[in-house]
Amino acid sequence: MQRTALTARRRERELDELASEPVDLLVVGGGVTGAGVALDAAARGLSVALVEAHDLAWGTSRWSSKLAHGGLRYLATGDVGVARESARERHVLMTRTAPHLVRALPQVLPLTQGVGPRQGITAGIGFGLGDLLRRDAGTSSDVLPAPRLARPGEAARLVPAVAREHLHGAWVAHDGQLVDDARLVVALARTAAGRGAKILTRVRATDLRAEGATLQDTLTGATLTAHARVVVNATGVWAGTVDPSVRLRPSRGTHVVVPAARLGDPAGALMVPVPGSTSRFVFALPAQLERVIIGITDEEAPGPVPDVPEPTRPEIDFLLATVSRVLERPLLPDDVVGAFAGLRPLVDRAGPGDGAGLPGSADISRRHLVEVSPSTGAVNVLGGKLTTYRTMAEDAVDLAVKHAGLTAGPCWTADLPLVGAPPRALPVGAPAGVQAVTAGAPPLAPALVARYGAEAPDVLAAATLPGAADAVGQGIAGAGHLDVTRAEIEWAVTHEGALDADDVLDRRTRIGLVPADRAAVRGVVGEIVEDALKRR
Ligand SMILES: Cc1cc2nc3c(=O)[nH]c(=O)nc-3n(C[C@H](O)[C@H](O)[C@H](O)COP(=O)(O)OP(=O)(O)OC[C@H]3O[C@@H](n4cnc5c(N)ncnc54)[C@H](O)[C@@H]3O)c2cc1C
Repeated sequence: MQRTALTARRRERELDELASEPVDLLVVGGGVTGAGVALDAAARGLSVALVEAHDLAWGTSRWSSKLAHGGLRYLATGDVGVARESARERHVLMTRTAPHLVRALPQVLPLTQGVGPRQGITAGIGFGLGDLLRRDAGTSSDVLPAPRLARPGEAARLVPAVAREHLHGAWVAHDGQLVDDARLVVALARTAAGRGAKILTRVRATDLRAEGATLQDTLTGATLTAHARVVVNATGVWAGTVDPSVRLRPSRGTHVVVPAARLGDPAGALMVPVPGSTSRFVFALPAQLERVIIGITDEEAPGPVPDVPEPTRPEIDFLLATVSRVLERPLLPDDVVGAFAGLRPLVDRAGPGDGAGLPGSADISRRHLVEVSPSTGAVNVLGGKLTTYRTMAEDAVDLAVKHAGLTAGPCWTADLPLVGAPPRALPVGAPAGVQAVTAGAPPLAPALVARYGAEAPDVLAAATLPGAADAVGQGIAGAGHLDVTRAEIEWAVTHEGALDADDVLDRRTRIGLVPADRAAVRGVVGEIVEDALKRR
């Protein structure tokens, strides 16, 4: 059994161990931030346990736009530091830590009737500045091509649904796109587990303290006390529920899902300026499983934080109307096959420090907050974004080590490839790199390689159930477009810590983003999951 494999049995054993053996660092929250902290700390040689109330990537980390972005949007607000950090972290992801999970995505801003001249010119200046950030980060144009003006024919080739009449060209600019955000979280957690971290899902922290927490196993109802030298609170938008001193200002971002065929199976993303704005855009992003996701909104979401935020009808209408401005045939509500929303954990106050001379590194301009909580004594790490999870984790572990007087080496996660990353010497870009690893073997399906990188052959080889390479929707009406193999369902249970069919449908794969797809394969996925759980 690989050291990186997460299983139900491992969870049980490690939860027992946690009841009797203190750890150096306890992380609460299994989103991208918590998983990044667990990896950073484990890589520095600390003993680590991460507890997550539901499942890995249960929260905001699965509702993002799935972009590893270069910080262009932060330039618009004058946040040069954040913009540079974002571009640097995109570079790290695309060239060292996760080149298998992040690809270069061409983004097309059509210069047409629905886009004002001022919007086109401003976008061109923005893309030019974004390109300076790319160069500053050391990202070569082989990895991310420079922005350029394209002819109408090329724009239409990248996004066939764009209206041809009045189209006199387009900006084409590249950014990083994750195959899936939840897969990044799972890869982080497994890489951390490979370095000894305990990754414990279905475990809720109910009482956070400076040196431990009360934990509840939500599968059995049992409670235990975990002891740690330091606790890191990475509960995102739920941070206020475990720390009364935290003030967040959640903002809801909504996406809709449409079949890729409806936009002509685009190879690039469509970027449409919001009417009257030169800095806000709606994106139609090609996604796996023959889908396009269209987002994004930004609505204040005060009040209690729901487990799963719901998109609203006006948000959906706004997205459809905005993107339709540049389409040959407007999108209609009937085209929508799914919709999802996430809450950005925006921080609403500056950090006060720890009251004992340690600096609170609150810095709203960096959009993430790392501080010792005056209320719980734990280190809070909040805000930020998916792209910069690694620097957030570094800051949090630096403060945790200092605060608790731990002995630990420096952060080196920028040079630590995640599970599935192809060996360094191979060409950048998942398919090229991974096919080179497996030279001589039969070619692997590109979709499998895009999701698992260098582990793609292992996913097939590890399968014990019949028909491993068959698509899970094979023979099921309306599910023929789902290219997820039966082997991936089994792998989710035997290596990725999935504990039930929902974990597989909604987070290890993203079949569940479309309710009809979910319903079509729910039965077969449930059978494979049960069988795999029984065998392990
Ligand atoms: C709509 C939208 C689009 C976005 N798009 C992008 C993008 O394209 N690129 C980008 O870089 N960023 C993007 N972001 C930002 C990014 O998604 C978030 O900043 C990031 O995912 C936050 O991760 P997190 O780990 O801090 O929080 P979360 O992912 O919410 O994780 C917190 C976890 O803590 C758990 N938890 C809560 N309470 C407890 C408890 N008591 N005990 C144990 N566990 C607990 C929750 O179950 C949850 O899993 C987007 C955000 C939104 C909302």
